[in-house]
Order: sequence, then structure tokens, then C-alpha cells
Amino acid sequence: MSELRDNYISWIRDAHAMEEQAITMLSSQAERLESYPELRTRIEHHIEETRGQSQALERVLDRLDDDTSMLKVAAGKFSATMQGLGGMFASDEVVKGTLAGYTFEHMEIESYRVLIAAAEAIGDTESQAVFETILQQEEAMANWLAANTGKTVKTFLARDEADLEASH
Ligand code: MG
Ligand code: FE
Repeated sequence: MSELRDNYISWIRDAHAMEEQAITMLSSQAERLESYPELRTRIEHHIEETRGQSQALERVLDRLDDDTSMLKVAAGKFSATMQGLGGMFASDEVVKGTLAGYTFEHMEIESYRVLIAAAEAIGDTESQAVFETILQQEEAMANWLAANTGKTVKTFLARDEADLEASH
């Protein structure tokens, strides 16, 4: 029972670190986006959702009596992954950004599937409902990015061809 609980709490803490990293990554993307207003608006909406996700995970950990004092420190562990995916300041930054964003959303999607399975195993139905709500937000963001890949790439190519600011 205690191994089960230890695994469960450690995965929730990992998810919290992932969301804190998402806030950093999405904020730096959104504030640089000038030529892609719809993408920027969608990312800004997801930043607000992500802040809510992070707070919801903190409430879950509080309810499970976990010590949340060191959570923000742990958030740095995802930064190396995201620097590898980011491509910020590349000449095709917006394209690298959509690749990184879609990849990140899918890491989040699978992370919440893991948490839902663990919540089922431990019988924590209250937290399971939280994870299911977050999972829907991640799926919606991934679906939006996928539905807009063509537009993003074609806008980038057309602006680059016309010597307009295209990278972000
Ligand atoms: Mg998220
Ligand atoms: Fe997300």
C-alpha cells in the first residue's frame, strides 16, 4: 500500500513540475509571437488553463498530505527537455514551436492517463476527476495545434517568401 502511494504521489509531483515548465515555455512563446495572432491567443488561453492545472495539482497533493514546500524547486527538472525541443530564436521559430508544443501536449496527455490509472488503482476518485478534466484540456490544445499546423506552416512560408517577419 505504501509503495503504491509513494509512486502515486511522485507521479503527481512530476506532473506539477511538468505544468510549471509548461507555463515557462508557453509564456516565452506567446510573448514573442507577433505575426501569428490566433496561435498567440490560443496559447495565452492555455497558459491560463495551465496555471489552473498547477494549482489543482497542489490542492490534490495538499489533500493527500504531501509536503508541497519544495514543489517549485523540482519544476526545473523538465527544462533540459524543453530547451532541446524549443528552437527559440531559430529562423523558423514558429514551426519549431508548433513541433515542441504538440510534442509537449502529448507528454502531458500520457502523464494524465498514467495518473488516472494510478488514481483508479488507489481508489482516489476525487483526484481522478481532476486528472480527467486536465486531460481534456491537454487533448483540446493538442487537437487545436494539429488542426492549425497547415495554416501555421503556410503562413510562415508565405511571409518568409515575401521577406516579411515570419519566424515568430
Ligand atoms: Mg498542462
Ligand atoms: Fe498542456
